[in-house]
This record gives sequence, structure tokens and C-alpha cells, in this order.
Amino acid sequence: MVIDKDWFTRKINDFLRNDVSNKMVGVDSSFIFEPKTVVGFSSGKDPIFDEYKEIIGQFHLTPKEAFCKFCEINNLNSTLEDLSIVGFVLPINEKTKKENYEYSKSMPSERWAHTRLYGEQANQKLQKFLVQELKNEGINAVAPMTERYLYKVLKVHENGVWASTWSHRHMLFASGLGSFGLSDGFINARGKAMRCGSIIVDYKLPSDASKRPTDPYEFCTECGDCVKRCPVSAISFELRHDKQKCSLHVGSTVPYIKKNYGIDIYGCGLCQVSVSCSSCIPKKNT
Ligand code: SF4
Ligand code: SF4
Repeated sequence: MVIDKDWFTRKINDFLRNDVSNKMVGVDSSFIFEPKTVVGFSSGKDPIFDEYKEIIGQFHLTPKEAFCKFCEINNLNSTLEDLSIVGFVLPINEKTKKENYEYSKSMPSERWAHTRLYGEQANQKLQKFLVQELKNEGINAVAPMTERYLYKVLKVHENGVWASTWSHRHMLFASGLGSFGLSDGFINARGKAMRCGSIIVDYKLPSDASKRPTDPYEFCTECGDCVKRCPVSAISFELRHDKQKCSLHVGSTVPYIKKNYGIDIYGCGLCQVSVSCSSCIPKKNT
């Protein structure tokens, strides 16, 4: 069996097409994420993962650190020489993007809230599914976000607020899938309105690092659409994304979502819909 980009793309899209976790049950049973993923690879030896310790914080795990811990817990051996990171994009359903734009200027729509809660559950199930499929091929892999001993969210840390020990978006950047935008969203071929995932695989895959832009904000045109869309002015040209302001607003949506949609989650995403980078990499004016 050849394990390559086609293999991952097929596995992910088939999961999104067929697994019930990707259906918007209780709304209209449509897909939460469109089965149109894009996949990128990076090498566990890539120096960018050490740079992330400076950029994000010392707590952010390198793939080697995470995989070492995984091996220790599971009594496995690895030389760590062939480690690769697989990053993938889960594009949000077009109907959901449209609804979240039209619904309100401050609260998320029902489909958006479902995507935040049940879509993330589908994302984690997908990561575990990929790990199992690789195991079936005799390849060890781990999805750090799904392992309690690897994944933690820090409300306050050495470099600011709200960060985790494993950032999917940074894994996607390392894997040449796009760049960050003014709002901290990840702009890629399927657009910023997405969720994403990443796993570590003990198998040499061809790195896409050469596709990685030198500027981490390369694909943001600074059009300002997201600045205008944010109901609490958490995005600005001067300070980019104010995580604290954003999180206060996002957290305040919980009672509204519970009362109106009957689910316990927070959400917003207004800066991700009906903006120039929602569904593609926007064109720069020349
Ligand atoms: S909406 Fe415009 S300014 Fe905001 S992240 Fe996208 S491209 Fe950048
Ligand atoms: S998620 Fe909402 S509050 Fe946060 S930056 Fe985007 S629009 Fe603003």
C-alpha cells in the first residue's frame, strides 16, 4: 500500500462523505464539512518547530517531543528519524457560511454553532480514524489533540493569552498549506472558513515546506473585511487579533446558543464569513 497525499485525501474525503459525525443531525443532515480537503506534509526535523517555541511559547510541543511521549506511554520504539506531520483542511459547508453571515451581526447562527461543537467532534474522530487506518498498515501515528497527556489549552501563558500545546494551524503553515490572516484565521486554497486537523506519523512523507511562504501573513491582502465584521473590534491593522477581546465575546455567546439552539457551546466566526478570504486565497491588487 502506498501511503501518500492521495491516500490521505481519499481517506479524509471518504470519512467526511460517509461518517454520521459529519452530518448536521438535528438541522438538515447536510455535511458539516465539505468533502474537499487539502492535505500538506512537513518533516519532524523541520527547524520551524523549534521556532514555534519562541513564537507561540516554550509549552508548544515539537512533533519529536509529542511523539516521544506517545512512545513512552504506549511502550513503543521509534528512531524519530522519519517523523512527518500531516495537516488537513476541513472546509465549512457553504450553507453554513451564508447563514452565519445573514443571521446576525453579533451572534452565531445555528449551523455555525453546530459546526463548532459537533464539527469539532467529527474532526477529532477523523484524526483518530486516520491513526487507526495507519496502524492497520503497520505505521504508528498519534493525533496530539486527542490525547490528554499531550493537549492542553492555556488561558494565560508566557507570551500572552489563549494558546494550546499543539496548534493545528501552525502545523498547516509548516506544511505549506497557506498563511495566517489579520484575524489569526488560516488562509488556504479552501478559504479561512474551515476547521483543520493534524497528526504525527512515524513514516517518511515528502515535505511541502518549499511551498511555505516566508511571510506568515503572505496571503492576507489586508482588505479590512474582517476588521469591519468583528462586533467587538477585536481585529485591527495595528494590533491584528486581540485574543482577549475576542474570547470575551465568544464566551458571552454561550447562553444565547443554549437558549436558541439547545446546545452547550460558544461561537462567533463572523470574521470568517463573507470576507474576501472566506472561501479562497484572495487576489492581491497589483
Ligand atoms: S478578510 Fe482581508 S484583512 Fe481579514 S484576514 Fe482576510 S484577507 Fe486579511
Ligand atoms: S471570532 Fe468574532 S469576536 Fe473573534 S475576532 Fe472574529 S468576529 Fe471578532
